[in-house]
Amino acid sequence: MDKKYIIGIDLGGTKISGAIADMDGSILNKITIPTLAGKGALTVVGRIADTIIKLMESRSASYGEVSGIGIGSPGFVNSKKGYIAFASNLSGFNNLPIVDMIEERLKIKTYLENDAKAAALGEMWFGAGGNCSNFIYLTVSTGIGGAIVYNGDIFTGSSNMAGEIGHTILNPEGPKCGCGHNGCLEAYASGTAIARLANERLKECEDSLLKEYDNITSKEVFDAASRGDKLASDVVDYSLHYLGIGIANLVTLINPERIIIGGGVSMAGQIIIDKVWEEVKANSFKPMYENLSIVPAKLKADAGVIGALGVVLTRSKGKR
Ligand SMILES: [Zn+2]
Repeated sequence: MDKKYIIGIDLGGTKISGAIADMDGSILNKITIPTLAGKGALTVVGRIADTIIKLMESRSASYGEVSGIGIGSPGFVNSKKGYIAFASNLSGFNNLPIVDMIEERLKIKTYLENDAKAAALGEMWFGAGGNCSNFIYLTVSTGIGGAIVYNGDIFTGSSNMAGEIGHTILNPEGPKCGCGHNGCLEAYASGTAIARLANERLKECEDSLLKEYDNITSKEVFDAASRGDKLASDVVDYSLHYLGIGIANLVTLINPERIIIGGGVSMAGQIIIDKVWEEVKANSFKPMYENLSIVPAKLKADAGVIGALGVVLTRSKGKR
């Protein structure tokens, strides 16, 4: 039977988003439902399968017409063996063979990938990675995730764990990271780290625009910095200094064609790109960055499902 559709699922701790698309990845319909993670892994997998069936029904698609399903999941996933090893916001998902479970029920080829790595493939097919098959993608939000895209697919490493950019250590005497180590990039430059630094410094500061807010996130820090606030500007400079150093190390190590920066913190815009460039030039080597481009991610609202569609396209069609 002719294949007409692909399906992407973005599994999150609070919601499951799904999309059915044509074979080129143009989205035809989307559905979002609550994950209900507290009801356990079996329930959640059932909800994913139901979402896929609803998406197919919305296009009157038969099982034989669907070429593949891509699932982007948080946490550590083994994409080769198709299981979620561990996801901190999906308890009970330890070593969950989600690919087998979906394939058994629906008889459609299914692919699994970590959500940040899926987002990188989404950027490769539909976003800022166009015409580029060797790039590094970073998502800077609550944490810092990422992916190394090498020759048009994710560079996996020996046990499928490569690309944990947020946990490369910039200073072993640095602040504690959620992973248990000290001084990771994530502990300096994630949205959480930026908010934490601002709150710490605010205690010893008499006047700052940040005193206006009850709850300070990285967005308020960037906003206050753009309004000339000294404390906020210092925090932004400090965090982006480390982000830039972390990226300079990647440039020296990997020599990529492009660095794509996505995630909520990247919404702060050009200031991030400019500061990262400054640090890359100061801390890497010209032959390694003279052909480099550093760009913001293009995919915003639907990055999760588009990434999951990108996983299907990459794994079923080969490189872009
Ligand atoms: Zn860490």
